[in-house]
Amino acid sequence: MSDDAHKVPAVTESAFNCPHCDAFAHQSWFPLLAARGGADQWTPYEQNSSISKASQRFVEDRGKSNLADDVLDGKAVLENHTITSSLQPIHNVWASRCSHCQELAVWVNKKMVYPSATLGIRPNQDLPDDIKSIFEEARQVAPISARSAAALLRLCIERLCVFLGEKGKSLYDDIASLVKKGLPLDVQKMLDYVRVTGNDAVHPGKLDEGDSKEDVNTLFKLVNFIADQTISKQQQIDNLYDSLPENVRSGIERRDQDKSCK
Ligand SMILES: [Zn+2]
Repeated sequence: MSDDAHKVPAVTESAFNCPHCDAFAHQSWFPLLAARGGADQWTPYEQNSSISKASQRFVEDRGKSNLADDVLDGKAVLENHTITSSLQPIHNVWASRCSHCQELAVWVNKKMVYPSATLGIRPNQDLPDDIKSIFEEARQVAPISARSAAALLRLCIERLCVFLGEKGKSLYDDIASLVKKGLPLDVQKMLDYVRVTGNDAVHPGKLDEGDSKEDVNTLFKLVNFIADQTISKQQQIDNLYDSLPENVRSGIERRDQDKSCK
C-alpha cells in the first residue's frame, strides 16, 4: 500500500487504517463509559476545535475549579461523582473500535496510547540526549513512513560521528576514520549497505514498503551498534576503573605521575 492510501488514525476521524489489522475501516468511538457512546459517526472532537465535545460544559468554570482546568488542559481526569449507578466519567480518554477486527485503541486526549504506534528497538541509553530524541522520533514515524524514519536515522549517525570527533560532512569518510580508530570493519560494511538503500530511499518508488522497513531496522541497529562500540564501551571501562578500591586507584595515579615526571 502506498503512503498516500494510508489514513493515519486521529481523533477527528470515523475511519482510518487500523493500528491492529492495518485495514482501512470504520472506527466507532466510545468515551470510556462505552454504554454512553453516541451514534455511528460520533467523534470526540469537532474539526478545528481545541476542546472536546464532552469538555464544553467545563468552559464557564475555567479558573474556578481544578477539575475544569484539568479537563480543559487535556489531562486524563477521574471525575469524582457518578453519573449512572456506580460509573464515573474519565475525561479526555477515549476508545475507538475497528469494524474490521473489532480491536480497541485507547486514546488520551488526541494521542493514541494503545496499541503502541512505534517501531524498532529502543535507543542505546548512553547516546547523547539530542540523538536519543531523534532516534525516538524515528521509532514513532517508522510505522507510518519508513523513508522518513530512515532519513532521521541517517541524521542520528551523522550527529553521532560529530559527537565522536569526526567532521560530519561525509558519513562514509567519518565511518572510515572511526574504523581506523578501532571501530569494527563490520560497521563500514553495514554503512555501505545503508548508503545504497539511503540513496534509493530519497527517490520514492524505488523501494517497496517491506524492503524499506527492513532497511530501517538495519539503521536502528547500526546507530546502537556504533554507540555500543564507542560510548558504552568507554563508559564500561571508566566504571570498572571507578569501582577499584581508592588505594589501588591512587596507586595507579601515583605510578602514572611518576612515569610522566621521568
Ligand atoms: Zn482492525
